[in-house]
Amino acid sequence: MISGILASPGIAFGKALLLETETILIKKTNIDPINIEYEINQLSQAKVKSIKQLKNIQKTSKKIFSKTEADIFSGHIMILEDIELEKEIITLIKTQYQTAAFAIEYIISKQIKKIQQIKNTYMQNRAVDIRDIGNRWLRNLLNLKTIDLKNIKEKVILIAHDLTPSQTAQINFQYIQGFITNVGGETAHTSIMARSLEIPAIVGTGNITTKITSGDFIILDGINNKIFINPDEHIIHTFKIRKKTYLNQKNKLKKFISLPAITIDNRKIEISANVSNIQDIINAKKYGAESIGLYRTEFLFMERTNLPSEEEQFHEYKKAAIIMQHKPVIIRTMDIGGDKEIPYMNFPKEENPFLGWRAIRISLAKKDILITQLLAILRASHFGKLRILFPMIISIEEIHELKHEIQKAKYILHQKKIPFDKDIKIGIMIETPSSAIIAHSLIKEVDFFSIGTNDLTQYTLAVDRRNDLISHLYNPMSPSILKLIKNVINASHEEGKWTGMCGEFAGNEKATILLLGMGLNEFSMNASFIPKIKKIIRTTTFKKAQELANMVLKQNTHKNIMQLLNSYIL
Ligand code: PEP
Ligand code: MG
Repeated sequence: MISGILASPGIAFGKALLLETETILIKKTNIDPINIEYEINQLSQAKVKSIKQLKNIQKTSKKIFSKTEADIFSGHIMILEDIELEKEIITLIKTQYQTAAFAIEYIISKQIKKIQQIKNTYMQNRAVDIRDIGNRWLRNLLNLKTIDLKNIKEKVILIAHDLTPSQTAQINFQYIQGFITNVGGETAHTSIMARSLEIPAIVGTGNITTKITSGDFIILDGINNKIFINPDEHIIHTFKIRKKTYLNQKNKLKKFISLPAITIDNRKIEISANVSNIQDIINAKKYGAESIGLYRTEFLFMERTNLPSEEEQFHEYKKAAIIMQHKPVIIRTMDIGGDKEIPYMNFPKEENPFLGWRAIRISLAKKDILITQLLAILRASHFGKLRILFPMIISIEEIHELKHEIQKAKYILHQKKIPFDKDIKIGIMIETPSSAIIAHSLIKEVDFFSIGTNDLTQYTLAVDRRNDLISHLYNPMSPSILKLIKNVINASHEEGKWTGMCGEFAGNEKATILLLGMGLNEFSMNASFIPKIKKIIRTTTFKKAQELANMVLKQNTHKNIMQLLNSYIL
């Protein structure tokens, strides 16, 4: 079975269309100096033509994509219009007597190489953009036909080494059922576009183009991240049914997007989304997120070669605050370490990274990084309703120290007369057994809790969350975890405060009624789960959910818990 990186969910099947990317071969031949002007003229004509084409693509993509996607092409146009880039190419033609084609290829490749030295996904994606621009310029110069994806007029699954953003924008999605590529990542523009068009896509498969030929029958299972090549009739039949069910469910759930999560007996639950960037926030709103329950800011630190400045962070958090229009955005301070390494920070090699230098342990050891982040969050808090969340707390002492740093940051801003929300709410993640056990003392220090079941499960059950060998033991639906969750929720309620959950468990439909009955106030999840969870909450009563939770909490085995949950009928 082949899999890759799930870029956009859904199920698609049909004949494969393998997009052969022909390479343009350019020979290095010296030109006669009298032809220099001619070459420069050709170069600028091809540039004008390319800009015109891109403006057209931009116009059509504005109709089908959101502004963010259409902006990609403004970026392409800007690069083409860059005088410096053209100057470099012209210099090569003039001083080395090279053809315009060779000069474009040479300078573009040089730029790509420079970018690729920076080993991060963001920059790798930018290299794809530059290649896309270079190829367009070259094709126009050499009068080569550009592969026109608009002309595909039969239902196919597109298989390609890579799809450039401009290719993706031209795809006629009436015919293209989905696509699979060798390269690419979740944050590549092509993946972002696929998600916004809701076209199933798997990227980063490594070598799919060597395994599939045009005409093969493909099933793209973008739910379980699996690709089937020429499967038997039985599998095709199963997937036809699955696709129907998936689309039916998706359609039926759409009406819940705009509805609040209120039980029949009027208990209101806050439904929030977990996000890692601004695009996620835009997407979360589309799925009906009422707020952002977890903004994983470490991704701002990961896609680069140096620490993000206060200014950069401020702009990012300010955008988040503005997009959410005064609805809460919980910003978690960076949770680096564990499985999230940052090459430029030169981490010491650790025997047990998950039990090591991670999250606030780094923030407290490197206070300049923490203060920079706090200043950025506080400044952005002036533009909306931001909250601060600290990960990996194990003790009251840590909270004291962190609050002290917040005071320092507030004082700095006060001195500089920079506005910020003076009453910004402070919360902590409950994701270690220690914090769950002493929740009654910790809540006195903060405004809210957010339970991180991903780590709480790993640390309580002593099961590495990434280890396949013991994955059967990794189960938040265990009596010990449920008791800890209940303890945390009770502790917050006794102090008149609230508890949310941002671990994956919050989006698990099997757990919804149980968590509701346990008194959880906010559920924060991957945005695509929101409609379903809203539906479950709206079709039950809090009273029934409480009864179920009471019974579940009396069970001593996982098996009994599951039996009870499975037998519960709405
Ligand atoms: C968690 O541990 O449940 C959590 C939400 O944090 P992360 O998955 O980012 O560690
Ligand atoms: Mg965690």
